Amino acid sequence: TYVVTEACIKCKYMDCVEVCPVDCFYEGENMLVINPSECIDCGVCEPECPAEAILPDTEDGLDQWLELNATYSAQWPNI
Ligand code: SF4
Repeated sequence: TYVVTEACIKCKYMDCVEVCPVDCFYEGENMLVINPSECIDCGVCEPECPAEAILPDTEDGLDQWLELNATYSAQWPNI
């Protein structure tokens, strides 16, 4: 799965949302998150993010962000 990280906060460009083929972005007050059980790992969103906030979960040190994306994608509205 891909994961949205800190650089997303207050970015809100939404370019990622427009390209995602499975609409797995969810929106809170400050940032977007990706639902890890819906993401098909296509990677299309990563280069679209102007803040470079979207990373593959194969990168180190993302545990906290993976948990946050999973938790909040279950609570926030789909966009
Ligand atoms: Fe959507 Fe693909 Fe990005 Fe996953 S990797 S959030 S499926 S655009």
